[in-house]
Amino acid sequence: MKAREAKHEKPTRRDLFAAAGRFAALGGLAAIAWLLGRRGSSRRASSCVNDGLCRSCPKLDGCILPAAQYTRRAKEADGG
Ligand code: SF4
Repeated sequence: MKAREAKHEKPTRRDLFAAAGRFAALGGLAAIAWLLGRRGSSRRASSCVNDGLCRSCPKLDGCILPAAQYTRRAKEADGG
């Protein structure tokens, strides 16, 4: 019965600070999850998907692997 009465009371300053702390902790967890997700996606981007055949690879323009960088430079030197 006491808990039901507590629901209808105005929140105290302590309740607001507790809620703010919970939201801050939740935000921190979301930020960590986002950072870990980004790290995972960049790892995926750093593995070759076309057996090193860069000239015919559809990912060549955005690929960060050294073979792709070399191929882009070679294509520029060839004139396209
Ligand atoms: S551009 Fe080259 S290194 Fe990058 S994924 Fe394609 S084939 Fe592999």
